Amino acid sequence: QAKSRGRATYEFFVPSLAESAYADLVIESELGTGLDEGEFLLFYQPQIDAASGKLVGAEALLRWRHPQRGLLTPEAFIAVAERHRLMLPLSDWVLAEAARQARRWHDAGLPPLRIAVNLSSMQFRLDSFACTVAGVLGESGARGDWLELELTERMLIDDIDHAPATLAELRAQGLTISVDDFGTGHTSLAHLTQLPLDKLKIDQGFVAKLPDDAGAMAITRAITEMARGLGLKVSAEGLRTREQWRLLADWGCDELQGELIADPMPAAEFEAWARTWSPRQA
Ligand code: C2E
Ligand code: MG
Ligand code: MG
Ligand code: MG
Repeated sequence: QAKSRGRATYEFFVPSLAESAYADLVIESELGTGLDEGEFLLFYQPQIDAASGKLVGAEALLRWRHPQRGLLTPEAFIAVAERHRLMLPLSDWVLAEAARQARRWHDAGLPPLRIAVNLSSMQFRLDSFACTVAGVLGESGARGDWLELELTERMLIDDIDHAPATLAELRAQGLTISVDDFGTGHTSLAHLTQLPLDKLKIDQGFVAKLPDDAGAMAITRAITEMARGLGLKVSAEGLRTREQWRLLADWGCDELQGELIADPMPAAEFEAWARTWSPRQA
């Protein structure tokens, strides 16, 4: 009986390992082809001023129009891309495309917009990153203050020796630096005063629980007040209700993003949306 149990374990374990390694390999090779074939695109989700409702920016969110599997969101491929270092060329493409889009919308006469780009840790860790950004601005003709860079707490902490200098160089080029998913990571309060940052972006996990969850209410309000005390802007994502909008605006949150305003959209759709959005208040 011990023998048959052993065999069952063996049969279960080996194929599943092989399958996941194989799945990784398939995605890895498809990612490379996808990048060459132009299968990646950016969706844009509006960001508005919490007090006036005016459109102030957009977050660029990566999508993959996969020839067989349809439109994929990052959760389907980002982890694999990171394991296989394809994340670097992909991330460079995202940054360059966001800068080109900022330029196109500027030329098309859209109101001034800041496009927020999610960085990958690989990309941010490179010593050359601030130079890469300067190159991207030069090539696209976009201005530094048309772009915002979103970093996670983890990226800041893992690179705490180099982060302050890199961030300072980026800010000197006019870019806005924001901390994504704030409240879920391991930044100490000391880090917040030491790093040259512009904005904290409250994680949507907290926003989703407003107003019913007393803990989320307290934390969201405290983050907002702390940010303002530190001279940082604060934004919230995952906005779903008008009541959440009212609360966040009352507490002094600067900017909002979420399905109440609009879902992420392809560039052309975003442009049409932006032209018809009429600022409103909570
Ligand atoms: P994130 O940066 O925190 O982005 C916010 C995510 O929440 C996006 O999902 C957005 O579509 C979604 N979201 C925002 N508001 C709402 C809402 O009200 N309701 C719902 N249901 N969802 C909302 P998405 O596009 O799937 O992106 C997931 C994550 O993938 C991002 O989280 C970011 O960490 C990563 N990501 C996206 N694009 C890129 C990229 O270009 N480069 C890198 N390195 N990571 C990216
Ligand atoms: Mg983000
Ligand atoms: Mg986030
Ligand atoms: Mg997130």
